[in-house]
Amino acid sequence: MRRSEALLFMSRETTDHENETVQLTHRAGLARQLGSGLYAKAPVGQRICEKVVAHIEREMDAIGGQQVSLPALNGDGIWKQSGRWESFEGEMLTLENREGKQLCLAPSHEEGMVSLVDGVVRSYEDLPLLLYQVTAKYRDDHARNGLLRTKEFTMKDAYSFHGSREPEEGEGSARRSGEERPASRDSLDEWYERVKAAYVRIFEGLGIDFAIVSADNSVMGGSNSEEFVALAETGTVELRFCTAEHCRFGVTDESPRGNLSAGDSCPECGSNLSAGEGIEIGHVFKLGTRYSEAMDLTVDGADGTEESVVMGSYGIGVERLLHVLVEQHADEDGCRWPGEASVAPFEVAVVPLEYAGELREAADRLYDGCGRDETLLFDDDSQTIGERFAESDLLGVPWKVVLGNHFRETGEVELESRDGETRYVAIEDVPEIVG
Ligand SMILES: [Zn+2]
Repeated sequence: MRRSEALLFMSRETTDHENETVQLTHRAGLARQLGSGLYAKAPVGQRICEKVVAHIEREMDAIGGQQVSLPALNGDGIWKQSGRWESFEGEMLTLENREGKQLCLAPSHEEGMVSLVDGVVRSYEDLPLLLYQVTAKYRDDHARNGLLRTKEFTMKDAYSFHGSREPEEGEGSARRSGEERPASRDSLDEWYERVKAAYVRIFEGLGIDFAIVSADNSVMGGSNSEEFVALAETGTVELRFCTAEHCRFGVTDESPRGNLSAGDSCPECGSNLSAGEGIEIGHVFKLGTRYSEAMDLTVDGADGTEESVVMGSYGIGVERLLHVLVEQHADEDGCRWPGEASVAPFEVAVVPLEYAGELREAADRLYDGCGRDETLLFDDDSQTIGERFAESDLLGVPWKVVLGNHFRETGEVELESRDGETRYVAIEDVPEIVG
């Protein structure tokens, strides 16, 4: 993208935003507040979120998830059936249409997913099944901390469905041979672990530091659940977490074993626990038959009798991830996007000393060679070179290619990483290095 054509929302204003992460989100122009708890993503924030979502989708597809998309607007019927109409901890946004019909903007989609598969999934042979979507959710929550708590937000939510036949004698060994279907609770347990492992890969791929916390099922119901909580300087929960490298053990005040404190031994590996704040970024639930029974979702079992359906649900908040990425990786110059899953808004910035003559020609060559969509070409000569560097760093572009006197003299460009490492390379090698 040409800098002269890009609509960037970067701002030099210092604001009275709650904390540094919210301020930086504003300064880097990722999002713009349009009302209390209402945010628009600016082009740069949108680009990052799209890459985050693509990364999540890859992992969900890899474990056999199938993507769907449910309407945000729900009739009251399914919510009354499940018993959650107007409950949802007082956060449900309801409205009435011109025919006097009651509707809500869905705060979650357990009810919607049950009605999606009802009548289509008929036999135990159709299960297990994992459906997911990336759509807006609405909660009439108290707005706080920029993108952290908003009334409308994007969620990747997934739902698994399993039969409920009880395991039979000797079935375990048959299942291992792959000939028998897993019994219900085993199937839920297995898919729950599979989704959890995918979540670990999703967060690790983004370079996020997080703990996994046993949690309360609260408004979702069901048997048990775990939260993925990112470490944060300013968070929403008090967190104690294990300091050992591959241990993800954590507790919050609400979790079982919430009385553990910093300095105690980790119950899982024996290392020391440390204390800090955290931000919930994902949640996985074993729902059991909480929704299927209330909404009468059943399948025909192997012996012809009706069996109820066991469910799990699994969520990741997308804008929260954006906030956490800024929070955990930023430095004094701005955003950084160091994870293996590259989510930087642009891969490379091309910074000519001036956009004219042979430097312009070389800059244009790099612009094409590195891919126009992933390249921010500083082609606007009203900016000083210092301003171009500062903008590129504020946005967290991982590479800057500098075209200046060194290039004129030697034909080599100066390639600088976001962390300040510099080397000189032949211009034709740039696309491969930054790609
Ligand atoms: Zn541990």
